[in-house]
Amino acid sequence: MVGGGIAGLLLAHRLRDRDPIVFDRRRNPGKQCTGIISRSTFQKLSVSKEFVDREFREIRVIYRSVEIFIRGDFIRLGRERLEKWLDSELGVMRPVDAVIRGRDEVLAKGSVYRGDVFDASGWKGKANWVKAVEYVTEPMDQEEIVVTLDPRNPAGFGWIVPLPDRTLVGALSRSDPRPFIPPVSRRVLSVHGGAIPRVKPSPTSVPAIGDRTGLIKTFTGGGIFGIAELLENFSNFDRLKREIARQYFITSLLEKTWRMGLATLRFMNGKTFYVDKEFDFHSFLFSLRKL
Ligand SMILES: Cc1cc2nc3c(=O)[nH]c(=O)nc-3n(C[C@H](O)[C@H](O)[C@H](O)COP(=O)(O)OP(=O)(O)OC[C@H]3O[C@@H](n4cnc5c(N)ncnc54)[C@H](O)[C@@H]3O)c2cc1C
Repeated sequence: MVGGGIAGLLLAHRLRDRDPIVFDRRRNPGKQCTGIISRSTFQKLSVSKEFVDREFREIRVIYRSVEIFIRGDFIRLGRERLEKWLDSELGVMRPVDAVIRGRDEVLAKGSVYRGDVFDASGWKGKANWVKAVEYVTEPMDQEEIVVTLDPRNPAGFGWIVPLPDRTLVGALSRSDPRPFIPPVSRRVLSVHGGAIPRVKPSPTSVPAIGDRTGLIKTFTGGGIFGIAELLENFSNFDRLKREIARQYFITSLLEKTWRMGLATLRFMNGKTFYVDKEFDFHSFLFSLRKL
């Protein structure tokens, strides 16, 4: 397995009867991210509930004086803890820069390793990169996830995710996300972030999982959904590829028509929408059921 991020570690754990070797160039496991996934995605990961940091039933979307409520079943995955635990359970070689030489050969630290090769090394091609910055702040007394929209941030958004012991406050944008981070009156404890590729997925020469496949929800940047689906069955790739390509098209359109789209939100002020499958397959959002 080349890549010991969440995708490589989860797949290696699934294949643990075959004693997989994981190569990762990072010295330590455990990446920080917002970690919001649907319950169905969490269930497909087949990991202990101890990695659920919090459950949420509502996302409150705020645009100026407009508020829209999205009801569903969402989980905050303790992803950093999960990666560290998986890493401790598996044979992971770090820090190692590995070279994939074919479907059954990897070169690492001057040695050749033979066996079935999986590529979990993150996105490699061109992309419309979006940047994400997230502050970890003191905890807040709040039940729901808050998402904020801004006309100056086309197809981007800010968020507040309250956890029992801290709050995640961040933003995602094609430009510098910091101006779009919702202001909160809590002390900032740390800052992290990263770049998220917006892409149309394409097949790889070696079986792949995670961001390497491009199966990343284009609007939210959620990559754990695609990982969970491939863990269930690699043959899900073609179906998911079509869904992400649709999302890519919708997100590109949103970028171009953002201000107009936001203006129409006032007609939905105060409404509640129930999403289930739509949270992951969010091209369905365009046929939302309204209550
Ligand atoms: C701020 C932020 C918030 C996010 N929030 C969410 C969220 O709420 N929900 C969600 O679903 N997703 C979220 N994501 C996206 C999610 O983090 C990614 O989809 C996920 O990290 C993909 O995992 P991965 O294992 O494929 O890639 P990575 O985590 O990037 O792991 C790839 C690994 O491969 C290693 N590697 C690469 N090349 C080599 C090589 N040649 N040899 C050895 N090792 C190599 C790297 O060191 C790395 O550890 C967020 C991302 C960011 C940045």
